Amino acid sequence: MPKPKSKSKKSSQKKFKAPYVYREESQLASGGNEEKPKVSSPCSDNFVADAGPGCHIAHPESSDWILEWEAVNADDFDADGLSDIPDIAIDPESGTLTVCNLNQYSLVAYITVYETRLRDAQGRLLEQGSTTNDEGETNQVTTLIVLCPPETFAHLCVLLPQEETDKPTSQIDLEQLRLESDVQPWNQHPDPSDVYHDLILAFPLRTDSTNPSFLCTQGIHGHLTHFFSGNLHAIDFQCPVGTPLLAVADAVVVQVQDHHECTGIAVTNLFHWNSILLQVKNTPPDKPLFVEYVHIQSASVSVGDQVQAGQVIGASGSVGFSPEPHLHFAAYRSDHPTAPTVQVSFAGKRGPYIPRAHEWYNDDGLAVP
Ligand SMILES: [Zn+2]
Repeated sequence: MPKPKSKSKKSSQKKFKAPYVYREESQLASGGNEEKPKVSSPCSDNFVADAGPGCHIAHPESSDWILEWEAVNADDFDADGLSDIPDIAIDPESGTLTVCNLNQYSLVAYITVYETRLRDAQGRLLEQGSTTNDEGETNQVTTLIVLCPPETFAHLCVLLPQEETDKPTSQIDLEQLRLESDVQPWNQHPDPSDVYHDLILAFPLRTDSTNPSFLCTQGIHGHLTHFFSGNLHAIDFQCPVGTPLLAVADAVVVQVQDHHECTGIAVTNLFHWNSILLQVKNTPPDKPLFVEYVHIQSASVSVGDQVQAGQVIGASGSVGFSPEPHLHFAAYRSDHPTAPTVQVSFAGKRGPYIPRAHEWYNDDGLAVP
């Protein structure tokens, strides 16, 4: 449990009644949220910060850039006031962007602000990144990824005009502000220690003289995006668009999706991605295993195809919520859309291994520089 700073004078009912308050209902299935998740922190910093340009992460134990965590004090609000508070609010006077979590459980908020600069607690402008939608429209945006503890206001940053960053916030036209968000209960993994022991996988990317190894930019439990049930044990490998994707085991192709084109860090990209799902063959009858390749550019296999370990099944890309070209690889015990991940190992010369962020890998395992 974090220690929110003591209540500040900024807290008032008024600021949350501003007309320019945005909310988008969660589009993600979020099973198991009726329970009150504990704020245990299975998250780690198992990711490369540079791999997410324009993404800024605020977790209770790692968030030096945000303005303040503030405990909700119900006495500050009348009963109606509490129910009026949206998930995301902007203070009309200061321009402060706040995630409001009045619940007894943690919320995860993804927020993308278009063409408007944001200033952090240290007075720095938050770095922007690029995003392109399925129609080919490209924008400069800032995306905030916030794990907000129960009964906490996360005061994140201050909105500034895009062109003249020293203008007072009151000169921003908040009615015109383009902001996308997805706020949902933190869908925690039911068993973070779940490991698949019955099989060791081959490496999923083909190396060559240009790319003799690949950087793992986010490992299991990574703060960037690997802290949900459906991606806790996922691994990200940075790889140029078009890198051949290899079957990690003999398998059957279960699902193929490669018609999307969006790329970058907009919240809406979370709901549009390309992927291949394989069911691994020769697993024990009661222990099926499915492996998924996400953000792909194209598939060269179809549903029902039998593939052999090492066979090319498609080409890597950067489609979906993807700050840079990479492969997001995950394994599951079921092909249900909301199945939790399971931890798998890859075969290396020095034995099975689990890739870690900041290290380079190839078919031999950890690449020795
Ligand atoms: Zn990933």
